[in-house]
Amino acid sequence: MTELTDLYQEVILDHNKRPRNFHKIEGADRTAEGYNPLCGDKFTIYLDLDGDVLCDLSFEGAGCAISKASASMMTEALRGKSRAEVEAIFAEFHALVTGEAKRGAAAPDLGKLVVFSGVREFPVRVKCASLAWHTLKAALENRKKRASTE
Ligand code: ZN
Repeated sequence: MTELTDLYQEVILDHNKRPRNFHKIEGADRTAEGYNPLCGDKFTIYLDLDGDVLCDLSFEGAGCAISKASASMMTEALRGKSRAEVEAIFAEFHALVTGEAKRGAAAPDLGKLVVFSGVREFPVRVKCASLAWHTLKAALENRKKRASTE
């Protein structure tokens, strides 16, 4: 676990301990399951759409601190956003955790999500951090197949 010391920043620990929007949405417009076989992280994402806007989203499941905190913070960051905004934030978050080149000046502000920048040093943890995001995308695209990081 020592390799992760630097990743376990206060905000990640807080979201792991007290995940936000950690519940099922009964009768959600969309749901998707995601699984990261490398770590065993497994989440279900629920979302309600109002036209083009994610008016509510939540998650359930279990996983490591990184995956759970990422799911928790994602539900906070994307609430009330349009699909286009979600796409832009997803792309920016993906670039952040994989260490890809910074995007253009028009890139959205990730706010607190920048705490996940440290995972780029650990390829296995990149999967943990991005699982909920891939799962959300599957839900938005209404894919029936379980999302997987593999
Ligand atoms: Zn994990």
